[in-house]
Amino acid sequence: MSHPLRISAIMLFWTGLALLTGGAQGATIRQDFADGRIVCVISSSGEVPEIVSAVLPIAMKAALERIGPPPDPAQLSIRLLDPPPFYKRAKALFQAEAFATQTGDEIALHPGKDPLKLAFRLGHEVTHWLAYKRHPARPPLWLDEGLAQMVASEAAETCARTRQQDLERPRPPKLEGHLLALDELVGMRSYPPSAARSAAFYWQAEALVRALHARLGTAEFAVYLGLLSAPGAPDWQAPLRERWYFSDWDVNWLAEQIRPQTETRGGDPH
Ligand SMILES: [Zn+2]
Repeated sequence: MSHPLRISAIMLFWTGLALLTGGAQGATIRQDFADGRIVCVISSSGEVPEIVSAVLPIAMKAALERIGPPPDPAQLSIRLLDPPPFYKRAKALFQAEAFATQTGDEIALHPGKDPLKLAFRLGHEVTHWLAYKRHPARPPLWLDEGLAQMVASEAAETCARTRQQDLERPRPPKLEGHLLALDELVGMRSYPPSAARSAAFYWQAEALVRALHARLGTAEFAVYLGLLSAPGAPDWQAPLRERWYFSDWDVNWLAEQIRPQTETRGGDPH
């Protein structure tokens, strides 16, 4: 007969724990965007750092400009995490996902202390979220990540400008040995297993999205994003050829854009 007692003791323990973690130490801040269509709730186990509330509007504006607001009113929860262990930081220097993730309507994020890096991370994840709200079937991996990287870099550039700083984005080292062919890049269904491959994948996905965006313009690029993110989406080239009259020459040009141009430019691809 000692069983019920033990169970209630365990339940009390858990209840106490729940009260502790949901207790008074945590802080939340609310920010609205897109004329109130987006409500962001930032939560933290401690104080919400000021750089987060300063940088989120920059990141959100950059993403809204490229993707547009969600079709229905939406709430995004941004949960601030405590600093990651050192090994994680060292492992994935060029991978935004090492510091932030977006799942459904939540972004979990290590804010860090550098506003430019934070603008990049928030820009990246907010882009994934907005793309998910507009296109629940999600874009293909290269398009989702390339677009997130492009918007992230725009957010970081704006953040740098407001602080009269220069944004430095050195090209990943060892890029040449890990480059993907265009067909491989657009065929990726899961993230590359190694850090070097992953860095090349992100760099090339961004380069491809930049090239397509430059060729199509913002409005037509949004149409392309919608076509490729629909359930049963066509092959990535089909709409380019049928709707925007891309030729083999144009596709070859795209293939050139995802390789670093070493002979004409220095270390920085931008
Ligand atoms: Zn991502």
